[in-house]
Amino acid sequence: MSAADGVTARVPAKVNVQLAVGGLRPDGFHGLANVFLAVGLYDEVTASPAAELRVTVSGPDARHVPLDDSNLAARAARLLAERHGRAPHVSLHIVKDIPVAGGMAGGSADAAGALLACDALWGTRTPRDELLACCAELGSDVPFALVGGAALGQGRGELLTPVETGGTFHWVFALADGGLSTPAVYRECDRLRETSGTGAGIDSVPEPRPSQRLFDALRTGDAEELAISVSNDLQPAALSLRPSLSDTLKTGTAAGALAALVSGSGPTCAFLASDARSAEAIASALEESGHCRSARTTTAPAPGATLIHG
Ligand code: ATP
Repeated sequence: MSAADGVTARVPAKVNVQLAVGGLRPDGFHGLANVFLAVGLYDEVTASPAAELRVTVSGPDARHVPLDDSNLAARAARLLAERHGRAPHVSLHIVKDIPVAGGMAGGSADAAGALLACDALWGTRTPRDELLACCAELGSDVPFALVGGAALGQGRGELLTPVETGGTFHWVFALADGGLSTPAVYRECDRLRETSGTGAGIDSVPEPRPSQRLFDALRTGDAEELAISVSNDLQPAALSLRPSLSDTLKTGTAAGALAALVSGSGPTCAFLASDARSAEAIASALEESGHCRSARTTTAPAPGATLIHG
């Protein structure tokens, strides 16, 4: 197969090992200290020549993915075409393995994959920094999907600094039925802060700061230290909107997880395991409990968006 037939990019999902959410800014965004870790669940985006822009999706969650211009992969193709003054004529096929609206940035992964695949198909040779600028324009989580590994995201999450990692971390992800809307989870986070009397504004919430202990744990590959250091400020809001997730978290902890947390805005739950065997045991316990749709084991860090075909 040559590039003229189609180009495929493979793009990882992410888990936030730290998600510190600052106060609500006047522009409607929250300041974040967001430590992303790319994990080995992947979407694949294939770009092929076509007479117009079209998107198709396969996989168990395919019916939940919009096929119109709101699809993030389609928006990415349009943006790249615009930058190069060409028509966005391309067929994008997404093989979706990352849960939709699951707090694992699947839509962002597809946007990064579409940029990379279209750039290769069209031969536009966009410099890496321009591709990253396109990613940031498309969404706060998109730049990380391109770079992978581990990184600190500041600002809205899109200003990335690479984070050193050592060794391999074993994870289990409990996929839920149905998604959670990320904006709704942020609104619930603000509401909970208001009702607790602390206020949700920029002056009432401490400036989000990344944890040095977490960076040390990632660098040394120490899963037990990582387990002590993970945190997610959106977790109370996700649990408030989906109380059944606390049963999922408890099930994984009882089965031996070193840490149990909601992934990003949820509803996927993430469990850090001591090794591959423990991860399998946690996944079996989660599936048997009925507290999730399915459980997946994988490792981290995973590479960012990569061309695998064409
Ligand atoms: P994040 O973790 O970045 O907040 P998420 O993982 O919770 O995101 P996504 O799977 O990225 O959520 O999708 C959020 C919404 O975006 C979906 O409900 C869907 O309507 C829309 N969407 C647009 N394009 C895509 C795409 N390519 N794949 C999945 N969802 C998409």
